[in-house]
Amino acid sequence: MGKYILDERLSHLSEMRLNALLSRYYQGEKIATLLTEFNIQCLPTAFYKLLPHAIHSKNKCRACGSPIATRLKSRFKMKFARDAVKCSQCEHVDFRNCRCDYCLRIKNELEATHQVAMKVLIEEFCRSFSTKPLVSNAQDISLEAAIALLALVRTCHLNEDGTYGSIIKPQLPYTPRSSLFKEKLVYLLDREIICPSSNSSTRAFNIYDGKIDSFNLLDVNWKLNCVNSELLISQIENCGLSGEWPEYWCHEVDSLRLELALAECQEFYEFCLGDRGLPYTNGIAINNMLLNLLRDHSVAQCYRIIWCGATASSDFKARNQANDFHTMNYMAGACLRWADKARTEGWPVIAFKRNFNLPRSMLSYVLYDVMLKTGEKGFNEAIFKDDELYKFHVFKEY
Ligand SMILES: [Zn+2]
Ligand SMILES: [Zn+2]
Repeated sequence: MGKYILDERLSHLSEMRLNALLSRYYQGEKIATLLTEFNIQCLPTAFYKLLPHAIHSKNKCRACGSPIATRLKSRFKMKFARDAVKCSQCEHVDFRNCRCDYCLRIKNELEATHQVAMKVLIEEFCRSFSTKPLVSNAQDISLEAAIALLALVRTCHLNEDGTYGSIIKPQLPYTPRSSLFKEKLVYLLDREIICPSSNSSTRAFNIYDGKIDSFNLLDVNWKLNCVNSELLISQIENCGLSGEWPEYWCHEVDSLRLELALAECQEFYEFCLGDRGLPYTNGIAINNMLLNLLRDHSVAQCYRIIWCGATASSDFKARNQANDFHTMNYMAGACLRWADKARTEGWPVIAFKRNFNLPRSMLSYVLYDVMLKTGEKGFNEAIFKDDELYKFHVFKEY
């Protein structure tokens, strides 16, 4: 029977009997009756899987050159029966995800060629960053760069070739869960202190028009663009240990503390919204509200205020059947009202502990444990001692 490829459960049928079976099937006869009469071992509901493949006389299999065939459509025109095209001789199925030996070999060859081409592009792209090493000692960089760099090398795995692995899935988060990680990495990149390493995974790079046009900050491996990276890291650590800093580093401390505190508050704010199934959108209004809280509260106390605001917004949503947008807006106002009331009434703002789901970041460890050696005071104590300092930093920096 050259016209069809048959399932073995139909192989006992002569060409005449098969044609009769198909004819009666397509005329709508009851399948159970046909199965009994033609002695076919199959459930009526699964008969569509036994329908033969009709061989094409012109189209050839791309794997072996034999004719290919299309499964006859179910009389119910079921979707899966539509394009099942297979070879009459080999395992090839004319489908994008065919797993026959031929297709797997072609796929592997294409992948290998792609990997080689990507490797060349990646090396060329990474070379464009590696100008001559600029940094030779810790005095050459700002405190912000020193802390961001030390936190990065402590977050990432050190490879044998001296490069650092990507910051994705670290034991401790590099920064609080906000856009701060991006800002820190871009800060280091802009100052040519780090650059992407050519041993990064190919998936870290985005191709446009045959060239790499961007890369994912989370996925790339990092190379330190300095004369002696181990020496530089030791020098930064030693500045923390000895407390002997370059003079200009001291002027950066408060703004770095504020930046970290704000990121930790944003992280907790986002967490409280997410806990209630609400999305978080970083914006000026929320930032200003959080800065207002940080004026005279520690991050731990801000957690308390944010939690109270979140609880109030849950009540508001339930009572008023408000939509997500209104509830999100309500929450920022609720936090502020709670803080204003606490200030007016002189309520003690009982501090929260760190949330289990939001572990302390490496940036916090480096700033407070390594450099300032005040530990979790950074979390538990308010940053600003007086109003002038607050005004100087908040109105100047943000
Ligand atoms: Zn074939
Ligand atoms: Zn195939």
